[in-house]
Amino acid sequence: MELFAVPDLPEIRAGHDLAALIRDAVDLREGDVVCVASTVVSKAEGRSADLDDFPAGPRAREIAARLADHTGEEKDPRFAQAVLEESVEVLMEAPFLLTETRFGHVGVNAGIDRSNTADGDLLLLPKRPSESAARIRSGLSADRVVVTDTCGRPFRHGQRGVAIGWAGLAPGRDWRGERDRDGRELDVTVENVADELAAAANLVAGEGDGGTPVVVVRDFEWGDHGESDAHFREVETDFVRQAIREWSYE
Ligand code: GDP
Ligand code: MN
Ligand code: MN
Repeated sequence: MELFAVPDLPEIRAGHDLAALIRDAVDLREGDVVCVASTVVSKAEGRSADLDDFPAGPRAREIAARLADHTGEEKDPRFAQAVLEESVEVLMEAPFLLTETRFGHVGVNAGIDRSNTADGDLLLLPKRPSESAARIRSGLSADRVVVTDTCGRPFRHGQRGVAIGWAGLAPGRDWRGERDRDGRELDVTVENVADELAAAANLVAGEGDGGTPVVVVRDFEWGDHGESDAHFREVETDFVRQAIREWSYE
């Protein structure tokens, strides 16, 4: 398996045809997985915004005040408003704002970026990243596309790439029913390959001014395993989320 960054992509602006730009920059092969940083998907889709676009309501002002209490730093209530508008549920208000986005991803500040944003103060995540992935896939005639974002995960320091959208592949490789080296049957292991590919791609893309938002994974072999469409955990079986809810609000 090999990973490489697609070279020479320009600064992406609203209305750019990302698939066409990628197509011109790289010769794709059968089976390639094209991993695209959500930053450039958002830029192309015109998801840049200014703080002034989000006049703060009472809830946002309350959250900003609470965040400022916890962190000792002023928080802009307009930023809290932007996060609320991108979210369907607030899991934690402080010491950081953790929410579920409208498309099911749980992340700090609803994944809104304030770096590599160019056209505004803020860059919102794509509205529906899997639909973005499907559009890029058909524009590219690529086999598989993953839209990634860098974010922190619970229980760990640092950030990593995760998959927030995908097309042409199932997120999960299902090992259930297969056997380990001692002949024991695996009964729970579904490997989240979409996240693993996103993490590998993120490793190549970097976080700063590298200018390499698109990474191709070549010759990744799925092997003889089942597929699972599950990715974002459903609330009913997300016990960590339930515990956070109780701790935050009860
Ligand atoms: P995120 O992980 O999706 O939030 O994106 P990052 O801000 O971490 O950027 C990932 C990679 O894409 C880095 O190498 C950036 O330098 C690069 N990048 C971000 N925006 C652009 C752009 O408009 N054009 C190009 N060529 N690279 C970009
Ligand atoms: Mn991001
Ligand atoms: Mn990143």
